[in-house]
Amino acid sequence: MELRLCLRLHARLPPATTPPPFQATAVLPASRRLRTGGSYGVALRRHTRRSSPAICASITDGEQGVAVKERSVSVILLSGGQGKRMGANMPKQYLPLLGLPIALYSLKTFCQLKEVKEVVVVCDPDYSDVFEGSIDNLQIPLKFARPGKERQDSVFNGLQEIDGDSELVCVHDSARPLVSSEDVKKVLEDAAVHGAAVLGVPVKATIKEANTNSFVVKTLDRKTLWEMQTPQAMKPNLLRDGFELVKRDGLEVTDDVSIVEYLKHPVYITEGSYTNIKVTTPDDLLLAERLMNEE
Ligand code: C5P
Repeated sequence: MELRLCLRLHARLPPATTPPPFQATAVLPASRRLRTGGSYGVALRRHTRRSSPAICASITDGEQGVAVKERSVSVILLSGGQGKRMGANMPKQYLPLLGLPIALYSLKTFCQLKEVKEVVVVCDPDYSDVFEGSIDNLQIPLKFARPGKERQDSVFNGLQEIDGDSELVCVHDSARPLVSSEDVKKVLEDAAVHGAAVLGVPVKATIKEANTNSFVVKTLDRKTLWEMQTPQAMKPNLLRDGFELVKRDGLEVTDDVSIVEYLKHPVYITEGSYTNIKVTTPDDLLLAERLMNEE
């Protein structure tokens, strides 16, 4: 499979606004273009996985990890946000990263996994052509859903489009282009075992709780704190049931497994990689470029 450059994005740029648009690298040298198969420039730090009795118990035929069936996972790729903190003149997930729209990196990662049966891209219809035809020899359906007002509304809309036979749904922020296929596979395995799993990394900073007057209330125990990433994977019915509860109680959530948490269903944290950053500000874009170049 080969991703094509989508430089046509530049043709639709509106006039510059204030703050000025972020200037990102627009052209990807041929040597750095995404290649068919294999790794494609994402520098990954190997990490140690915490041992999980459930995972160990489910190791089959000498291979590590549980088998997530081929073509059993529906991916919801969230691309419906505005990304205002970037200060650019288009949503951040379409900005070029080494010459390619950010959202296409994770799309390619998912499309290469044999476990994935379909990808539902949640995006403004004006941007669907960024995705359509971006991958040659695509073996799985690419579907589309419209974004909602909040992230959770976009997830809900994507959920309506997934195949009824899918065993897992995997929600990913397209603003995280550096997610590795190894980490995706691990979180899918953990979701298959536990019902719901999320990629996360142990928090490095000291985190304090403060009151509204900015005085420290308490220092949280860092050993118990994790920063959540995506993908977040779960059995589709858990997400459907969770949404019913969330809608009934008018709750607002910022991530998908929180919806499962409201059902009081356990959610497993799969240890991911610090390199799986979310591109939110211009600094993040520069960091993402550096990480890709550390290949
Ligand atoms: O704004 P934030 O970085 O938290 O968004 C995370 C992801 O959710 C992004 O990929 C964004 O495009 C997506 N999103 C969405 N619909 C919204 C808001 C955010 O698809 N209404």
